[in-house]
Amino acid sequence: MTEEFKPFTFNTPGSMHLEWGGASRLGELLGEWFEQRKLLIVTDKFLHEQGLLNEAKASLAACGFDVAVFDDVVADPPEAVLLACVEQGKAVDADIVLGLGGGSSMDIAKLVAVMLKSEQPLADMYGIGNIKGSRTPLVQVPTTAGTGSEVTNITILTTGETTKMGVVAQQLYADRVLLDAQLTVGLPAAATAATGIDAMVHAIEAYTSVHRKNPLSDALAREALRLLCGNLVTACQDGSNRAAREAMLLGSNLAGQAFSNSPVAAVHALAYPLGGHYHLPHGLTNALMLGPVLRFNMAAAAPLYAELADVVLGPDKADVQARSERFVEYMQELMNRSGAPQRLRDVNVSEDSLPTLAKDAMLQSRLLMNNPVAVTEADALALYREAY
Ligand SMILES: [Zn+2]
Repeated sequence: MTEEFKPFTFNTPGSMHLEWGGASRLGELLGEWFEQRKLLIVTDKFLHEQGLLNEAKASLAACGFDVAVFDDVVADPPEAVLLACVEQGKAVDADIVLGLGGGSSMDIAKLVAVMLKSEQPLADMYGIGNIKGSRTPLVQVPTTAGTGSEVTNITILTTGETTKMGVVAQQLYADRVLLDAQLTVGLPAAATAATGIDAMVHAIEAYTSVHRKNPLSDALAREALRLLCGNLVTACQDGSNRAAREAMLLGSNLAGQAFSNSPVAAVHALAYPLGGHYHLPHGLTNALMLGPVLRFNMAAAAPLYAELADVVLGPDKADVQARSERFVEYMQELMNRSGAPQRLRDVNVSEDSLPTLAKDAMLQSRLLMNNPVAVTEADALALYREAY
């Protein structure tokens, strides 16, 4: 069969290294990869105090690195956290930046690497492609399997009460990514479930995205979903299972590369208002909205869901409709088995707030435009009611 391709561009970090326990020899790895030796690690207090950095720091010191740790990153980080991190980096004259943690730490590390090299005001960087100049070398080390932030070129900052703004730029792609799934072993089951389902949403939404879906993002999304679906329940129930943890981290990484090039849609658009109003974790809000949106999107996405059914459930001779229904049922069943909360009421969302959430979801037009089925405010409200 011959196929013609529409023009597309695919961007991703230059190098990925997967190694169980790799963080414990971080000094050797960075020593091979870079000449710079004044390292700023960007992370959060919880991970720092848990001792997750201890072996990495020892290895770095043994290999001649000067290491400073900024551990004030919080979820949904405000601009002030970024600016404080830049200040610390400048004070120690850091010439290489490493993000270690969940999405927030890696997001902050991206912009710090830029701002250590540039006097461009942050206000001028918001939007797409507005960063001028280069950055210091940048390494990303995820400690959760979900956000895929280690392979995306976007940083989201909280700029007001519930408002967020994003910086998207080529410079935010890391030079190197280290995937050490041993770092994810301590993640509790609830967080493993929510972040893992978020990664699945990235793969599914990238695969059904309307505008920039392409053969590379498709290939990555399919393999991501195969790994994630096959290992989510094991990773939740047996957190120290190495094979399951590695599959989840790799799956999340592949899904991240997919959606960085073929963007997410209505699940995320409906999830963001829940995060904004109720301060629920990103992964959890996506898990809560996935089932209703999958069923809603069947009207247009059934052929693609049928393809994904073949990937996660094995090929089947049934017709498209039957296979796509099996896919949606299977995803719902998987989420139920993961132990993640299933309904908005379970996480204390008030029924009265659903109209406000629906109104806010309409503001996410940059995401909604990627959805296979158009979403009106009335649709959004119906989807929240279904999730309630
Ligand atoms: Zn997400």
